[in-house]
Amino acid sequence: MENTYLSGIADYEDQEATFNGWVYNTRSVGKIWFLILRDGTGMTQCVVTRDNTTDDIFNLEKTLTQESSVSVTGVVKKEPRSVGGHEMLVKNIVVHQVAEKYPITPKEHGTSFLMDHRHLWIRSKKQHAILKIRHQVVKACRNFLDNNGFILIDAPIFTANACEGTSNLFAVDYFERSAYLTQSGQLYSEATAASFGKVYCFGPTFRAEKSKTRRHLTEFWMVEPEMAYYNLDDNMNLAEQFVEYIVQSCLKYCQPELKTLERDISKLENIKVPFPRITYDEAAKTLEDQGSDFAYGSDFGGTDETIISDQYDKPVMVHHWPAEVKAFYMKRDAENDNLALGLDMLAPEGYGEIIGGGQREDDLATLESRIKEHDLDMKDFGWYLDLRKYGSVPHSGFGLGIERTVAWITGIKHIRETIPFPRTIYRLDP
Ligand code: ATP
Ligand code: MG
Repeated sequence: MENTYLSGIADYEDQEATFNGWVYNTRSVGKIWFLILRDGTGMTQCVVTRDNTTDDIFNLEKTLTQESSVSVTGVVKKEPRSVGGHEMLVKNIVVHQVAEKYPITPKEHGTSFLMDHRHLWIRSKKQHAILKIRHQVVKACRNFLDNNGFILIDAPIFTANACEGTSNLFAVDYFERSAYLTQSGQLYSEATAASFGKVYCFGPTFRAEKSKTRRHLTEFWMVEPEMAYYNLDDNMNLAEQFVEYIVQSCLKYCQPELKTLERDISKLENIKVPFPRITYDEAAKTLEDQGSDFAYGSDFGGTDETIISDQYDKPVMVHHWPAEVKAFYMKRDAENDNLALGLDMLAPEGYGEIIGGGQREDDLATLESRIKEHDLDMKDFGWYLDLRKYGSVPHSGFGLGIERTVAWITGIKHIRETIPFPRTIYRLDP
């Protein structure tokens, strides 16, 4: 088949070309009708007149339904007023399939109906734009890390141990024993960082989130850099450069998509380092001043995160957390053993935590006592403890959630639209 794409239609100006795609819609004005063709890379208006076509082609107007698959041949003309800046004067249309009555129409549909039809909904303009930005976010994450000396070393999906607490684990049968779907690749990245220096893993992670929030999926993608010889400050420096790069690449490459989504890009243009950094105590003080009923010493809920992030027009990094709310592997502050060297980055505009990370405990005896305090099974962590026996070094890392980052950049309120096929407590299909 001929493979020409609408994204490159300008190359065919005043020439004949064939484009394969789907009928977005048709519109008739008497002796002329228009077919808006979409092919995944763009859209164009195809003009069908009696003069240029046979009766059979001209009469297709009555048969072609929304989403019918067609190959359209014609001469490409510059037309600034038309979608995509060009139009096609049609000579021929080959029909591959006349679509059945398409369930998604321009009228309003409820989210649950649209989610039931997610496999079709992803063809709509807005969903298409969100997923293209997701692609750019992933690409930017990889480019940034690859260009800064990080090596991609992926972590396993089946794991024997829990690293982010035992309450939201998915257990699966694993031959004679049970295993868990990974909640994070971090522990493995600590091992690979001791082999390669700077590494990252990037893959799906699973958490049996029972709460219904617009920020939680049960399956989400996380990119997790881990660096040997990095302390908390080095970690924060990296995190802010990383996020600046991701946002700026979306601005550079996704202008049409951001426009489709009516995103206020001035808010994104402002995302440049340095980002504000505050301690947990300072954040707690803000919450108190703003009249929140938040209890000092607990983790921030969604509303608290919004109150904190509303104080800034850039992402804010909250560091030095009460040790009780952070995981067993987090290193404590040398000056205050009650504080963990954790770092959360909260996105502006109320999008919540996009990054969680910190400096890791590197002392063997301390780590052993933390494992005991957390009632974890020492034998599950034999290999992890080895990393503190054989050339232990200060090291740090973080995990950035792809979907929350995409939600923020696209300005989409609910995280379920930022992944092709979302998984939540109530949704396992399509
Ligand atoms: P929260 O308190 O919002 O549940 P968390 O503290 O559990 O987040 P981390 O364990 O630090 O999050 O995970 C790192 C990142 O992964 C988060 O900053 C977020 O971007 C993302 N993330 C965590 N849980 C989810 C989820 N259920 N769905 C989508 N993204 C998530
Ligand atoms: Mg969580």
